[in-house]
Amino acid sequence: MEKLKQRIRTEGKVLSADILKVNSFLNHQIDVELLDSMGAEFARRFSDEKITRVLTIESSGIAIAYPVARELKVPLVFAKKTKSKNLDGAVYSAVVHSFTRGTDYDVEVSKDFIKPGDRVLIIDDFLANGAALEGLSSIISAAGAVCVGAGIAIEKGSQPGGKLLREKGMRIESLAIVESMSPEEGVTFRN
Ligand code: 5GP
Repeated sequence: MEKLKQRIRTEGKVLSADILKVNSFLNHQIDVELLDSMGAEFARRFSDEKITRVLTIESSGIAIAYPVARELKVPLVFAKKTKSKNLDGAVYSAVVHSFTRGTDYDVEVSKDFIKPGDRVLIIDDFLANGAALEGLSSIISAAGAVCVGAGIAIEKGSQPGGKLLREKGMRIESLAIVESMSPEEGVTFRN
């Protein structure tokens, strides 16, 4: 999506070969018009999938997933990050290794909000090693629902998550795929 790539070129800050900061429009301040058009684009790409719920992870995913769910006219569910394991059986949970913090955390979704037979679209801001997508997709499976795929704003193509998950059969639609990046050279996109 050219509009998103342009914003990454002009406003993205490459902190290292691994981390891209897009705080001015996505992760801290939000450009709601840009996110509305990203949401419309995800909804268009997945329009054939008969989606019944959109699932993301708090907090940055919510703003991107909101316009998608609105376009598709389905509920938006966000997985909550917790430090403690929930033991009362009312939630589905998964352990996710945080790419940016380097630690593990639990994510959980109430059993009330994903049901067997649901067709769930995952939305997230970044794709790096794929841990967040794997955690969310395991929650969808545990619920007896179907993951129709994942919509990602920015995929970092030099990190292995996209390739690994596509090889496992997950449909992943990324609006911008970063081929390479460095603080000196900036960002190059995959065509
Ligand atoms: P993964 O689980 O695929 O390794 O990493 C994806 C998650 O880590 C996303 O939910 C996102 O919050 C975070 N993340 C990964 N890479 C970046 C990055 O370059 N910049 C930012 N801001 N977040 C990232």
